[in-house]
Amino acid sequence: MTTATPERADILIRRAYVVTLDAENRVFTDGAIAISGNRITWIGSSTDAAKIAASETIDAYGQIVLPGLIDAHFHTGQQLLRGKLQAIGRKRPLKLPVWKNYLIPWESCLEPEDVHLSGLVAYSNMLQVGTTCFAEAGGPHPDEMGRAALEVGIRGFISQSTVDQSENIGATVPPNMLFTHDEALEKNVSLVNRWKDGDRVKAWMSLRQVIVCSPALIRDIAAEAKAADVKIHTHLCEGSYEIDYTAEKFGLRPTEWLDSIGVLSHRLHCAHSVLLSDREVDLYQKHRISACHCAFGNYSIGHHRLIEMWRRGIDIGLGTDGPGGGGTLDIFQVARVTRVAQQAIHSSTLHWRDPISSEELLRIATQGGARALGIFDQVGTLEVGKKADILLCNVDSMDHKPMQDPLFVAASVVVGRDVDTVLVDGQVVMRKRELLGVDVERIEARLKERMPVISERFERLIA
Ligand SMILES: [Zn+2]
Repeated sequence: MTTATPERADILIRRAYVVTLDAENRVFTDGAIAISGNRITWIGSSTDAAKIAASETIDAYGQIVLPGLIDAHFHTGQQLLRGKLQAIGRKRPLKLPVWKNYLIPWESCLEPEDVHLSGLVAYSNMLQVGTTCFAEAGGPHPDEMGRAALEVGIRGFISQSTVDQSENIGATVPPNMLFTHDEALEKNVSLVNRWKDGDRVKAWMSLRQVIVCSPALIRDIAAEAKAADVKIHTHLCEGSYEIDYTAEKFGLRPTEWLDSIGVLSHRLHCAHSVLLSDREVDLYQKHRISACHCAFGNYSIGHHRLIEMWRRGIDIGLGTDGPGGGGTLDIFQVARVTRVAQQAIHSSTLHWRDPISSEELLRIATQGGARALGIFDQVGTLEVGKKADILLCNVDSMDHKPMQDPLFVAASVVVGRDVDTVLVDGQVVMRKRELLGVDVERIEARLKERMPVISERFERLIA
């Protein structure tokens, strides 16, 4: 699509390799992007851009410009747990599964100010590795996540950890993480209401997992999400115990059971979705359920059917599952791990050596995530009319040379730490790796103060 060159713009990015990831897969080798307000108003050559009067011009010579990456499954409340379980595991075997025995207990130790701090650290970390939008799986004190996201300048969807039954999990749910049906419903509905007028930051509903949510709550959250027209973030088909639970209790696999109670729709966003039967993949397609693949953890569960799901048109993005997943929040690395793991699956079973390319995975990390979060009309590619969530990546080191194909370098060589400058919603939020909305020294001082307090509480709880 060609658009007339505008006379002026708020921000003009010039002299870049512009990798649009649009439907025609356009790449401009001496490209420019004009931004006005929070939207991309024009994309073309740097020569044509010379006619545009801009309030601010960013010279991106020697940089690759990409759409921002999306982390489609994240746990803000677990950010400060990074490395802790590995340290404990060196002293004694960890109890499985980790989510019941450590992750929910850790979250229970957080005060509201700790969740705010976790958010500041996590969202700053995301911007520094090229993630411009996240979907929170559901944690404690979600309003504090929203406050942190607004300050840091990232786009995101926050949600409340939602658990209203604990008898099936063989572990104790800390009392402050276990709600009655009515409390759980009210917390979700009021959170969505408080954030409904938000633009860059909004709230979803959440159901932690079928095993810890009562059938009545699942039905009622689905009805409220429909009424409010928001998504529901959950974990689905993440463990064999979850399949045994619905099979033994209801005689159906998890997705089939959710279908039988009438809650499947495009509003349901299901992290992991690893152990899906053929019939369950059909249900994902039929009901337009979205999914998120978290490569760092998913291959310890099973063979994820990512390629099949993506090519059948199921909206699926990539996620880190928080720093507990793989340590890093770098979605470029999640994409690389996914490519190799999918190759291993298909090569070992079908001698299919090149089942998916890095370029296709970069598309899943951007467009796939945007589709899964229901915002592909707004972000996920560099196109005129879309919101300006944009990365400028340094590709001037020997690690990137020679530059024969910017798309290849973007998809196969660039990692999060190459990201130099980030725009979210038309605002520069990181410039030359400096985060503009964040007081790093203040964060470090707060970490020094709070980490010992939270750790001590946690260790007492899991002893
Ligand atoms: Zn998760």
